[in-house]
Amino acid sequence: MHYQLRDEAGASRSVAYLLMGAGPFMLVTGVILPDHPTPGSVAVFVLLTFLFLGAGALCRWRPERVPHLAWLFAPFFGIAVITGLNLATHDASTGAQLFYLWPVLYAANFLSRAVNYLTITLVSAGNAAVVFSILGATVGLSDWASLTVAMMLTAVVVASLRGRNERLREVLETQAYADPLTGVANRRSFDGELARAVESAHRTGEPIALMTLDIDHFKKINDTWGHGVGDQALRLVADALRRVASGRDDVVGRLGGDEFVVLMRTDRMGARRAADDVRAAVAEVATLPGGPPGLSIGIAVLPDHAGTAVELGAASDAALYEAKEGGRGRTAIAHPPGARHNVDQVPSVTVTGA
Ligand code: GH3
Ligand code: MG
Repeated sequence: MHYQLRDEAGASRSVAYLLMGAGPFMLVTGVILPDHPTPGSVAVFVLLTFLFLGAGALCRWRPERVPHLAWLFAPFFGIAVITGLNLATHDASTGAQLFYLWPVLYAANFLSRAVNYLTITLVSAGNAAVVFSILGATVGLSDWASLTVAMMLTAVVVASLRGRNERLREVLETQAYADPLTGVANRRSFDGELARAVESAHRTGEPIALMTLDIDHFKKINDTWGHGVGDQALRLVADALRRVASGRDDVVGRLGGDEFVVLMRTDRMGARRAADDVRAAVAEVATLPGGPPGLSIGIAVLPDHAGTAVELGAASDAALYEAKEGGRGRTAIAHPPGARHNVDQVPSVTVTGA
């Protein structure tokens, strides 16, 4: 069953507090409140109290030692415990039934829709066993129906609040990680992606290429046609980059101003082809008053030119600098560290000034 556990830390705390609350509750209802508890029942309730307290402490302070599936079974376990206790203490009062709120709220908060349906069904069945055996058929039926409806309504409200929270979180994440103008990754999220890609390249031995691109004479586009057209040019370049870097693991980012980066799981030749594709895609831009913008591109590849994310960024940046110095509208590929010339300049296929 797909049970979609969200927020394992929150789930483990919820289970911990249930267990740590259930322990003393059993001591009070099973040992202290009964008039003449038998030695056997006292022993069982005291043992259970300590067991629950211990399990609660484990969930609270060492949740990593608890098997993952425990967080799925927690509501079913809760229903069994609540039903068992209510039957054992012969308690069908509203107070005792309110404990069923725990599995309902837990499932609605942390688990999938299917588990929610199952939880409500089991709560309803567990409560039926309690109320029908203690209150009899007539009173039991109305009691059972009210509790079942109340639990269903509670689950619906909590699940919809959770849905709203998830949507808000997605919006916040998008705002935190995407560049608002172009929608590509911002510097912070790109740096994270680059670090992860370098780590995986070290593990797998697969190369990764970092392309750094800068629009030529972008300031002139702003000055000539206005900031709005400059923004449009940035969006069009980002769109072109997204079209070219469309692989599952490719990442396009905007470092700031008119500087973009593209991370690809490819080698030197693949990156060079991608640079040509980017130029071709940008050259097709027909909606800017000054025509398609020119691009300078620097390429560096790990492990050919760098061993770390910082070195890869620096090598790609240096290659871009050389492409600019070499006359703009060019692609420059970094040379291995220690080579006499640090870039190999390739005249661009498309060079169009703004
Ligand atoms: P080069 O050929 O050497 O790259 O020169 P350039 O004019 O492209 O580069 P420069 O760094 O001098 O200019 C970048 C300009 O980008 C300066 C800044 O005003 C402008 N800019 C930065 N962010 C934005 C933005 O979000 N929108 C627009 N329209 N302009 C921006
Ligand atoms: Mg520029």
